[in-house]
Amino acid sequence: MSPRGTLRILPLGGLGEIGKNMMVVEYDGRIVVVDTGLMFPTPDQLGIDLVLPDFAYLRERADDIEAIVLTHGHEDHVGALPFVLRQLGRTPKIYGGPLTAAMVRSKLDEHRLREVTVEDVLATQSFEAGPFSVEMVKMAHSIPDAFAVALTCDLGTTLVTGDYKFDQTPVDGVPADVGRLAELGRDGLLLLCGDSTNADRPGVSLSESSVGPKLEEVFGRCNGRIVVTCFASNIHRVQQVVDAAAVLGRKVSLVGRSMRKNVNIGRTLGHIDVPEGMLVGPKEIEDFPDNKLVVISTGSQGEPLSALRRMAHGDHPQVELHDGDTVIFSATPIPGNERAVNETINRIYRLGADVITAADVPVHASGHGYQEELKLMLNLTKPEYVMPVHGDHRRLRLHSELAEAVGVPPKSIFRGENGLPLEIDSSGARFGDREQAGMIFVDGVDVGDIEDVALRDRRMLSADGIFIVVATISEQDGRSVAPPEIIFRGVPFVDESDAFVGELRQAVDASLERSAAEEIREIDLLQDHLHDDVAEFVYERLRRRPMILPVVVEV
Ligand SMILES: [Zn+2]
Ligand SMILES: [Zn+2]
Repeated sequence: MSPRGTLRILPLGGLGEIGKNMMVVEYDGRIVVVDTGLMFPTPDQLGIDLVLPDFAYLRERADDIEAIVLTHGHEDHVGALPFVLRQLGRTPKIYGGPLTAAMVRSKLDEHRLREVTVEDVLATQSFEAGPFSVEMVKMAHSIPDAFAVALTCDLGTTLVTGDYKFDQTPVDGVPADVGRLAELGRDGLLLLCGDSTNADRPGVSLSESSVGPKLEEVFGRCNGRIVVTCFASNIHRVQQVVDAAAVLGRKVSLVGRSMRKNVNIGRTLGHIDVPEGMLVGPKEIEDFPDNKLVVISTGSQGEPLSALRRMAHGDHPQVELHDGDTVIFSATPIPGNERAVNETINRIYRLGADVITAADVPVHASGHGYQEELKLMLNLTKPEYVMPVHGDHRRLRLHSELAEAVGVPPKSIFRGENGLPLEIDSSGARFGDREQAGMIFVDGVDVGDIEDVALRDRRMLSADGIFIVVATISEQDGRSVAPPEIIFRGVPFVDESDAFVGELRQAVDASLERSAAEEIREIDLLQDHLHDDVAEFVYERLRRRPMILPVVVEV
């Protein structure tokens, strides 16, 4: 029987941008979703906490989703999962490697989605999902348990590479499964959706294991305390920092919530070996001899309120940077974070400490393959069709050119966009009709632990300040009996003399009027309405989201 169905590959995120990767793979009306990622807001998206792909399409098709498959545990691949699950109204099967699954479980737990199960899958394991047979292929990346996903239906096999590099000497000793990729190629791969992150870099990426000796070399030149910052999920990097510290007779201390959490998960799953005697608790840092310690810290991206950023601002409870300290950035800034990283570096210098970045010494290796590795992937898998993914438009274009260079005919290369489905049937491949795609902004943490809420509040205050609105209403009819009082602090570009304050008073009165007309009398509810109305007014006028504290008093 010849296959008659249409395979639809619909990217909802990750094309034309770096972040929020999400791919809908559909056959016979049944869907497997590969990755549910998020993106962090750019500095101009003030007051926005997270950016998610617009997954309205999935909401409409919720009943058709057979499975969600996660390639690896990075936020740009798993971060949107709690939001997606809450909106779907049902929980499809969820699969990921053991580390991915453990990290995702912990994330779902923070979002109070504790009843959701995430299935561990190992490399080479396969499972059925509707019309698809799905197989995980081991890849190398800057986090353990990174997989490519091969989805086979009766039309052929689609390979979504996830993030990858070809590292011949990975820290865990298990390189990408080149043999399996070649087999997929030999059997005839229908479509390759490949990572384009480093399509602009010629040559081959550095091996992760080349970083360790460089760290050792740099450590050897440091006389004082050493602080190394890297991604908390880069377990193999943390391992190499620990090993280099051990060689030089130094102990390590883990600083930052996510650093401690990820190292814990990594230890439990055997991805990292930190002998118990190596660890120094954060509270012991100040009393520990400087030349005997390496602090491993979060904050390599200059994230607000991260451990390193707080150190740089002289605001960290345990680590006070001073003369003689050396801070090593074992990471490069993700596009968009350069300013925050530079500011952090500048502040560290001001405190008297020294800074070493990957521009000085190769203390970082990218987790994404360079041009020759992308070509190797293309040559191994010999796809009939190619769709570059995971990159801005420039990188998608460069990846297409690499595909052409290894002999893929231009008409078989599909440079896609979010929302544009690629449709393949037995007669060929073409783009179909555009579906809704775009961004969803998450403003605030709707569910989460108190710490997250406190962090959010502090961030709002620091960026946009606060408005306190005090309204006095009559006990009889709920109507305003005195002009509302408006107090504000730290709101950029607003001062007392500003006409804006007068208009804001009118907006407060209007809100109270509306509530009175609707006979809303309960103080909590009144304050909620007032909060929303004032927030909307302020955002409309100032494009900012200061904290709004409404106080309604009845007399
Ligand atoms: Zn990644
Ligand atoms: Zn990624």
